[in-house]
Parts: sequence; structure tokens; C-alpha cells
Amino acid sequence: MKDYKQIAEILFPNIDKTPEYYYDKYRDRNLPEGAEVTRTAPSPTGYYHIGGLYGAIIDKFVAEKSGGIFYLRLEDTDQKREIEEAGQIAYEALMYFGVTPTEGYRGSNLLEEGEYGPYVQSKRGEIYQAFAKYLVSIGRAFPCFCDKAEDKSEILERREKELEEGNLIEHDKCRDLSVEEIANNVKSGKPFAIRLLSQGDPNKSIKIKDEIKGEREIRENGKDIVILKSNGIPPYALAHLVDDTLMHTTTVIRGEEWYQSLASHIELFEAFGLKHPKYAHTPVICKLDGGNKRKISKRKDVEADSRSFRILGYPKEAVIEYLITLANSDFEDWRAANPDEHYSNFPFSISKVGSNNPIFDFAKLNDISKNYIAKLTATEVYDLVLAWAKEFNKELAAVLEDDKEFAIKVFDIERGGAKPRKDIAKWEDIYSYFDYMFKDYSHLDIDFNQFGIDQLLARNIIADYVETFDFTADKDTWFATIKELANKYNFCTDNKLYKQNPAGFRGNTATFCNIIRVAITGKTNTPDLYSICLCLGKRKLRNIASNI
Ligand code: GLU
Repeated sequence: MKDYKQIAEILFPNIDKTPEYYYDKYRDRNLPEGAEVTRTAPSPTGYYHIGGLYGAIIDKFVAEKSGGIFYLRLEDTDQKREIEEAGQIAYEALMYFGVTPTEGYRGSNLLEEGEYGPYVQSKRGEIYQAFAKYLVSIGRAFPCFCDKAEDKSEILERREKELEEGNLIEHDKCRDLSVEEIANNVKSGKPFAIRLLSQGDPNKSIKIKDEIKGEREIRENGKDIVILKSNGIPPYALAHLVDDTLMHTTTVIRGEEWYQSLASHIELFEAFGLKHPKYAHTPVICKLDGGNKRKISKRKDVEADSRSFRILGYPKEAVIEYLITLANSDFEDWRAANPDEHYSNFPFSISKVGSNNPIFDFAKLNDISKNYIAKLTATEVYDLVLAWAKEFNKELAAVLEDDKEFAIKVFDIERGGAKPRKDIAKWEDIYSYFDYMFKDYSHLDIDFNQFGIDQLLARNIIADYVETFDFTADKDTWFATIKELANKYNFCTDNKLYKQNPAGFRGNTATFCNIIRVAITGKTNTPDLYSICLCLGKRKLRNIASNI
């Protein structure tokens, strides 16, 4: 029988703390029965994936609905991937979208919040090492001195044999080293990793309850997985075990991609004599690509990066509400029945998260966003567009600031009432949507031919229209004047008559209005023409007429 305690001392002479010490230091949270502790644990990669945000929304709902805690932990152990300020980016994304954690890491400029930190893994090296040392001391982990580039042919040979035998056991040869060999290796300065000494049998299966997918059956782990790399930093398996144990996470909500390593995590918890948290593996957000469903990719897809939605100018609530519909499909019905409630009041439940990977659909997001924006007041729209434009469209910001009152009037067209107009989905669209309002008119450069309209005729009509436009008249009076003008230019204002003899006229009232609409806006589809003209005022209308 090897002296495991001696091995542990040889490997970690400077680690004097034990898991017991940490269990005592990070006492149970004093939370009411049933309160859930959840966390979002991004790895800082320089951008915050939309799937991370989606998971964080679920985390927050689960914690808050149960009166628990939702915290942010930075999983920055994979140093190769870390880029400067990447943690800050993740934190800012959560804050921006209002998925604010109650505890944990708060960006690189603020002190952490909470008593279970540090919440940044790169600051927890000693804690992980104490856990690894303990596992060595009880004979459930061992040092592995194999160079990372373990002889490839050896690995292949072993794998082939395993496949032939139909098992998935990967026992590392270093598990058989004697105390003396270990001591000599350490003395000669050979770097070592620590591996779990697996006792699992992959020919057996275990049942585990997934909070989303229900009961699932997995093979036992048979691999001596690395739990501490030669630089003293743990990979995910040990890091999450230590952190979720000491931070008292009750449900680990993470992407389905982690499911394949679940068996090794379960064995690791058992090796420590610990109860593992509940697990919920969330479906992975996909997209349709040429009819095929595939994962959203950071390299190829704009929707992978949550910041894209900010840049495009989607209101953050719309993005969140869309992600909620992907998680709980009954959200839409709830929203329809409760149009004025904040989404946080929605009875979210993790058990309602579907098993299938949802498809990210911009058309759906646009619908939700249009509905959301349609409910805002013109002043709210102004404030939001201006805040966005200051960051992403300086030219528009200047225009909005130049004449706030005018801009608010523009945003007020067909707003409010029982049937508000719903055509703006994101702030990026506003400038081109309302270009005739905000840009110098000559920019419109209308080619009337493309609308089947004679340029000269349009010029005469619009000049006449502008001069007869009465800014004190109500809409009905305005429409009566339009009809008079239409008659004057031989457009038929009686539809029955027009149908009987279309060749006798240039068109009908609709054709006539369309000429005015195109002349003023350059578009055939706009909000209410009368309101647009009122907004533009005499001077701008004259300017338009003289430019045609
Ligand atoms: N750091 C892991 C990731 O970014 C988190 C997995 C988890 O939530 O446990 O995928």
C-alpha cells in the first residue's frame, strides 16, 4: 500500500490547507428553504456569447423566483484564451441587458460583491491545489509526469485497443508510479499534472436527473482526467467542483455541450465525498443555414456576439424578451395577456425549458422589438435613439440634438392609441426610415420613373399641393383638399366611376396620394402623410417642392 499522504506532501509541500478549512471558511448560505443559488460563469473570450446571455437569464429567473442568489464567476483558467478586459466585457454585457447578478465579479474596476470569493478563478489557485492535494492524499489522484506530447503512437494504439474491447477506459500509466519514482521525478524538476484515479466502469451506467431534460442515463466515467495542469491551474472539472461547492451553487445551469463530461464530474464529486449540485443542461441556440440547423458560430454569425444587438440598436428588453421566448415558449401568450407587466413578473420555470435546440430567428426578434417600441412614448424613443446614436451614429445624434422638439414630433407620428404603428425594430433603421425628415431633402434624389410617375407631372402636383396645404386644417379638411387637387389633375376621386372608365383618368385618389407621398418621402410606404406634412412644416415642404 502506497503512502498517499507522503506523495501529497512531496507534490504540494507548500499547501497547508485542506478542503475542511475551506468548508469551514465558506459556511452555508443562510437562505430560506428551496432558495436556489445559480451562477453564470463565462470564460473571458473577448465577447459575450448570446448563449451565455440566454443561460444567464435562466439563472437569474431560477434564483430570483426562489428567493435565492444569482452570482457571476469569471472562469479565466484557460489563460491562452484570455484577452485583456474580456472579463469586463462579460460583466458589462450582463449589466447592459439588465441581467444583473446579485453577487460576484463586477468588472475589472470594482471590488467583488459577496463573501464567497474570490470570484475570479485565476485568483483561487491555492484553493484548487488544496483540493487536489487532498485527493492525492486519499489515493484518488496521482501525479502524471508524461509530457503533454505523450507518444502519439502509444495513444493511438491504446485507443484502438479500447475501441476493440468496446470500453472507454483510459487509465494513465503514471498511476502505477512508486513513491520513490515520484520523489525522484519531483526532485529532478519534472513538471507534473494531477489526474483523478478513476474507479468508474464505463460498461455500467448511472441515472441522473437533469432539471431540463429529465432523467438521463450516462456511462460511468473511466478516464483518469486531468484535474490540475502542470502550471498548477485546474481545468473546468475540478475548478467548477471546488467553486460550486464553496459558493454553494444549488443548480448548475450550463450548456448542453458540458453533458458529455458530466460522468467525470460526478465521479470527481464522489471521490471528494461531496454531493454534486443539481444540473440543468440548456439547449444550444442554433440557426438555419441553407435549410440545415447548426450551432451559432462566433466567426460566421453576427448574432453570436450579444454586443451586436446593442450595436444594431435593438432595445435590450426586446432582446431579453426574445431570449425568454426561446427558453419558455408560453412567454408570448403571457405577454399578450399582460402587455404592461415587466418581464421579470413572468412565471418562468426551468421545467418549461424545451429539450430541442431553439432556432434564432431575426424575424421573430424584429416582431417582438417592433411591439416593444410601439408601446414607448415619443420622448422615450427620442432618449433611447439619442443614447444609441451618440455611440454608433454621430451624424444622427447631431441631428436629434439640433432640434429635439422636431424629432419628438416625428417619433410621435402614429404612436399611441389602440393601433400604434409597428415598423421600427431597431434604432439602426431609424435614419433611413425617416431620412426625409432628418436629412437634407436633396439627398433623397427621387427617380419618379421607378414608381411609374411622370417627373414633370409630379413637380406640378407637389408645387400646387404645398401651396394649398393648410396647416390649421384638420385631417378631413386636408383630405377634401387633396380630392379637389386630384380632380384638377384628372385623377378620379370616385372609385366606381374610375372602375367603369380607367382609361379616362390618370389614376384614382390613391394614385394621386402616392405621387405626393413619393415626392415628399421618396417612399411608397410611410406613416400617415398628413402627419408627416404637419411635422415638416411649410418651409421644408417648399424646399422639397423646389427640388423636384
Ligand atoms: N466557463 C464555462 C463556459 O464558458 C462555464 C460552464 C458552466 O457554466 O459551468 O462555458
